[in-house]
Amino acid sequence: MARYRGSVCRLCRREGIKLYLKGSRCETAKCAIEKRAYPPGQHGQGRTKFSEYGVQLREKQKVKRIYGVLEKPFRNYFFKADRKKGVTGENLLQNLELRFDNVVYRMGLAPSRNAARQLVRHKHFHVNGKKMNVPSYILKQGDVITPNPNKSKKKPVNEAIEGIKEKTLPEWLSFDADSKQGIVQSMPTREDVKLPIEEQLIVELYSR
Ligand code: SF4
Repeated sequence: MARYRGSVCRLCRREGIKLYLKGSRCETAKCAIEKRAYPPGQHGQGRTKFSEYGVQLREKQKVKRIYGVLEKPFRNYFFKADRKKGVTGENLLQNLELRFDNVVYRMGLAPSRNAARQLVRHKHFHVNGKKMNVPSYILKQGDVITPNPNKSKKKPVNEAIEGIKEKTLPEWLSFDADSKQGIVQSMPTREDVKLPIEEQLIVELYSR
């Protein structure tokens, strides 16, 4: 499965904001944005003026990078959102939020979406009692996520479950640390996606 293998901090610097791709390191002074808040590369500190197309492109790249999705699948998410009833931009964000790796991250079971993706690939979780190792799997309301009992003694997942008690989860998700069971309580709405995203720019880009 294809994925980006370069420096993820470089992606944050390119977009000019913290994309929180490295878990706890993102909250420390070691964060590359804290040290070098300008785009990477030889001309990173030069003046940059974006055209209308450039602004739309950067917004699309930013969202792709936040969710760790490559170009072709992202384009498919957009067309799927466009075919669905409702506001295209909001449908797009809803589908991205419902990805299995994103839900694992949002539930606090992994420190970043990248880490969540790896745990999912390594079969650390079940969905509705069945093994599921596809990070892009789209969950639906009522789906139940539980740790794989054969792997539940592994440190990262167990530590994460202990840590969930102190976390505030998004309203559309819940996780009971005692029964080790997470539930997608409702479909995420635009208000639930508290990220600095202007999805309308992405709609305009793909509508060109
Ligand atoms: Fe981005 Fe995190 Fe790297 Fe900071 S530490 S630049 S937020 S990935």
